[in-house]
Amino acid sequence: MKNWWKRRSLKLRLTLWYAAAATVISIALAIFVYEVVEHRLGAELDRQLRIDFDVLEAQLETDAEGQIKWAVRGAHGDEGFARLAAWFEVWSENGQLLLRHWPVRDAEIKKSLLAPAEAALHFYTVELEKDLHVRLMERPARVRARSVMIRVFRDESDLRLTLHQIVEVFLLGFPLAVALSALGGYLIAGKSLSPVKAMAAQARKVTSESLSERLPNPNPHDELGQLAAVVNETLQRLEHSFSELKRFTGDASHDLRTPLTALRTVGEVGLRQSENTTALRETIGSMLEEAQRLNELIESLLELARMESGKVSIKLEPVKIAELAGEVRDNLSVLAAERRQAIELAGDDGVAAKADRILLRQALMNIVHNAVRYAPPQTNIAIRTTERNSQAIIEVADQGPGIASEHQQKIFERFYRVDKSRSRSDGGHGLGLAIAKWSVEHQGGRIELESRIGRGSVFRILLPRWQSTN
Ligand code: ADP
Repeated sequence: MKNWWKRRSLKLRLTLWYAAAATVISIALAIFVYEVVEHRLGAELDRQLRIDFDVLEAQLETDAEGQIKWAVRGAHGDEGFARLAAWFEVWSENGQLLLRHWPVRDAEIKKSLLAPAEAALHFYTVELEKDLHVRLMERPARVRARSVMIRVFRDESDLRLTLHQIVEVFLLGFPLAVALSALGGYLIAGKSLSPVKAMAAQARKVTSESLSERLPNPNPHDELGQLAAVVNETLQRLEHSFSELKRFTGDASHDLRTPLTALRTVGEVGLRQSENTTALRETIGSMLEEAQRLNELIESLLELARMESGKVSIKLEPVKIAELAGEVRDNLSVLAAERRQAIELAGDDGVAAKADRILLRQALMNIVHNAVRYAPPQTNIAIRTTERNSQAIIEVADQGPGIASEHQQKIFERFYRVDKSRSRSDGGHGLGLAIAKWSVEHQGGRIELESRIGRGSVFRILLPRWQSTN
């Protein structure tokens, strides 16, 4: 049953739920109405019986022989009797019928009733004949000092007819109500689920080639609209990641192909000059340079892939930033000396950042290496370490060409180079800052850039300061 239910469409299930709910509500309502009406009419009948009893008791008396007799004393003669619609019996205490007044003559009574069982007040219903139910009330009374039991009757047919009609109306209306609510349920379910159909049809069309497609969202305020919005956001993220990936693959293959082509061309030229040892040495030299560049690119790519895969474990510890800046300067001093540049250190020696030493070192290396690479010879590069509020700051300032504002955000993207021809000849692949940004951000920090064309650049790494409570 559970499996059967699960295999049905949501529309059918909702329809069945509606119909079931309508059935339960109709039955409960019918029972309630039936009970209330029965109780009301029954109470009314009993009230009438009590009135009948009171009127009758006052009109009974004994004749000269001590026989009970009925002296009708209505305000208008016999009217009292008529109004009473009298139907009664008077019994002696020992179960003898003293007086009877029925709508039919005694001879026509098919089934007369037994004497009252006990001298107490009772209300009950008996079926005198088929389909003739009467409600009766018995109660002890006194007629001229004589103790008797009076029994008054009222026909229950009207009450039963009313109840019967309620049942009939219900039986007629019930299937109609269930059918109508099932139909209503079917239409409502169809209408409310129609956006799901449209969404499914649209979602089927989405492939990796058409990630720009979005699900229709006629009403963003309801639950289905919210679902569509969430799916659309996911599609947007996927589209972004996909285009990033495409761009990355395209850039990576281009950057790998260029040095390989250069290697092959240089090699072919070298082959043709195989007689000339000096030329051959030069060729091999530039081939090695290209190989070195290729190696660097592959290493950067591997580094990025490792970062993206989430396999880089980040160990935050106190890192003395002035010490780290000194290490980076020492590492790049030969390169800077070749370009007759000076790398100066300044700032606060005691500041410790909460960072991963290896990742931070790599980020700083990339930034200072760029300063060496892009600033002209015989200029100064300054690395300043300071603290501000709860942040440890490393600033790298150069006297290079500066970066135009339209490039300032983009240079942190992978493979982005401001001047492509220049950077290639200098060996830059546009990955250094992307790696630095990733590293710093994954240590809870950020990189800021201040730069103007012709006025040099300042790259600023901001990290949480190491507090002694850390
Ligand atoms: P690359 O390997 O090309 O240096 P990066 O990601 O390190 O790659 O830098 C991206 C681009 O940003 C560089 O190609 C260069 O155009 C620009 N850039 C980076 N640092 C500086 C700087 N200090 N001065 C001027 N331009 C810079």
